This record gives sequence, C-alpha cells and structure tokens, in this order.
Amino acid sequence: MTRTLIRDVRVFDGERTVPRADILIDGARITAPDGRPADTVVDGSGRTLLPGLIDAHTHVVDGSLAAALAHGVTTELDMFCVPGNLARQRRLAASRDDVADLRSAGMLATAPGGHPTQLLVDAGALGDAAGPIDAVTGPADAKRFTADRVAEGADYLKIVVDDGILHGGHFPTLAPATVAALVEAAHAQGLRAIAHAVTAREIAIALDAGVDGLAHVPADLPAGPELSALAARVAAARVFVVTTLVYFEAITAQAAAADHAKPSAATDAGHAARALHEAGVVLLAGTDANPYVPEHGIAMHRELLLLTGAGMSPDAALAAATSIPARVFGLTDRGRIAPGFRADLLLVDGDPTSDISTTKAIAGVWRGGVRLQP
Ligand SMILES: [Zn+2]
Repeated sequence: MTRTLIRDVRVFDGERTVPRADILIDGARITAPDGRPADTVVDGSGRTLLPGLIDAHTHVVDGSLAAALAHGVTTELDMFCVPGNLARQRRLAASRDDVADLRSAGMLATAPGGHPTQLLVDAGALGDAAGPIDAVTGPADAKRFTADRVAEGADYLKIVVDDGILHGGHFPTLAPATVAALVEAAHAQGLRAIAHAVTAREIAIALDAGVDGLAHVPADLPAGPELSALAARVAAARVFVVTTLVYFEAITAQAAAADHAKPSAATDAGHAARALHEAGVVLLAGTDANPYVPEHGIAMHRELLLLTGAGMSPDAALAAATSIPARVFGLTDRGRIAPGFRADLLLVDGDPTSDISTTKAIAGVWRGGVRLQP
C-alpha cells in the first residue's frame, strides 16, 4: 500500500485548526506518522489540509461527480435522482477513484404534478437523468413509497413541501397529513427525512411532521421577528438546515435576466442563514448543484464564501462542509482528519481558516487515499 506523508502542514481537522503537523496517508486511511519512510512526501508548508468537502445538497448526472472531485468535493449527498441514473452514478462512485463518492435520496416524494415535475417536462437534454416521478397520492401511500425507496437503496428520504409560490406559480403539493405519514414511514425504516420547503408556511408543515432536516434556508421572509421566531423553532426542534445560498443566488440572477422579472425575497438568502446560525441551528453547506446551475464542485467554494458573509467564522463554515454533514448523515468514516478516517483530503495553498477564498487554491485532492491526477 502507498504511504504518503504530508509534512509541515496547517491542519483544519473538521473541527479545529492545528498550526503545523505531519499527516500520513497509509493506503485508504489516515494514520499517525510512525517514523517509517513514506513512498511520497508532499511539502505542506504555506498550505492547509482540510477533510474533503461534503456537499449536502446536489443532483447528480453524468459528469457531476468528476467535476465535484476536481474541486475538492469528495462526497456529494444527492437529494433526488431517478432510478436508472442513480444506479449508473452509484456504479461510477463505487468503481472509480477520480469521481466523488455519493449518497442519495433516490426518488423524491412529491404530490402528483408537484415540484419538480415542472422542471422535468422539457428535460430531453437530461436523457435518463429525467424520468417519470413516482408521486405520493396520500397518507395511505406513504409506506408503499418509502418501501420502494428502501428497495432502490435510498440513504434517506426527501420530501417536497412546495406550493410553487416562490417559483411564481401554483403547484399541487403534499397535504400535511401525507408529509407526516412519510416522515413516520421513513423513521420506521431507519431513514432520515429531509424536506424541501422554501417558505415559512412550508417549513412549519415540515416541522409539524417531525422532519430531521430542511434542504434549504427559508427564502420568503425578510430579516425581522418572524424570521427570528422561525429560526428559534428550527433550533428548538434540533432540525438541521442545508444552506444552498449559492442556489438562491443563481436563480435570482436567472430571474433578473428574464424580461418581466421582479426582485424576489430570495434575492439574498444570507440573512436567513445568519438568523439560523445566530439561533444555534445546525447548518450544513450545500449548493443544490444540478445539471444547470450552480455547478458541481466549484459552487461549494462560493457557498463557503457566502456562509462567511452571513456571519459564520471560516472555521464554522468549514465544519459545515466537513465534520457536521458527516455526523448528521452518519458518515462515520469521513469528515475529519484523524487516525482511522478515510483519506478524503483537500490540500490548498494559503489559510482558509483566516481567508475562506483560499479553498479554491487547490494543491491536491485525495479520495480514499488516491491522489487525483490533475
Ligand atoms: Zn435540490
């Protein structure tokens, strides 16, 4: 097995920073240096070693996982993937070292005709990455739907609570009783339940149903008491939130480019992330990278910048992209730099714990101990 020593490097271990250390990669794992010679020595001076980034909200198609890894994202948590595409992406992630690893919700739970059906109507370019949605018809359908997801190997359940208001339309959406039945069915199968909910009203339905996490920050409330009260409720319920600020930034730019666009409350979701962070909510960095925008991999670096703009310290933003998503999703082998953990690593020039923009200055990426060849 190959032994690689990264010498004299600043280490952000997923939780805190050590100014200078030697880190040994032995095969696929991180181990403590033992004095025996390494096959390869990498000079870490002036550089920082981070756990490989974990993007907690993506949608994977052909090419996504390669783009992610090239930008230091070693694991993507997919939040909706149709079965044929999912099977292919899983095979890729399992058989190749030059693509990011993958976890997925598989098919999402939505009402007949509900979000994101409108996005898939004209999706010829997506090939088999688009396909018919297995809609949930009511509370009595929740067990059947969830069992089908377990059969297709879903790692968690994604539930859409979206009436279309934020998209400027009206979509059919799951009734609160159906959302609650889905959460109950997910928990009975040992799956976490994550809700796509983008307005305060939708988030209230998701919280009432007992979800474990939210796939976006709330996007319809200005800073103020109503947002603060919602943030306090999310914190009290110990529900985690995936931020996706770069997604809101991207759709706002698209809307502004359209003729009759008017700025929406989604213009800046940073204030929502700030309110949640100040309330003590567990935040996970995620981009909602999809086949269009934001782009897999590179968007994660923008997300980290936006999170610091929303009041998180660089260390807190980096934890939200490494150790925290690993802990929240039960990925016990990654997200940290410590002996025994998977050698999913990102080496950058400079010090992102003081200047977050240096995460983009990539000097090396390892997935399971294998260095990605540039
Ligand atoms: Zn999404």
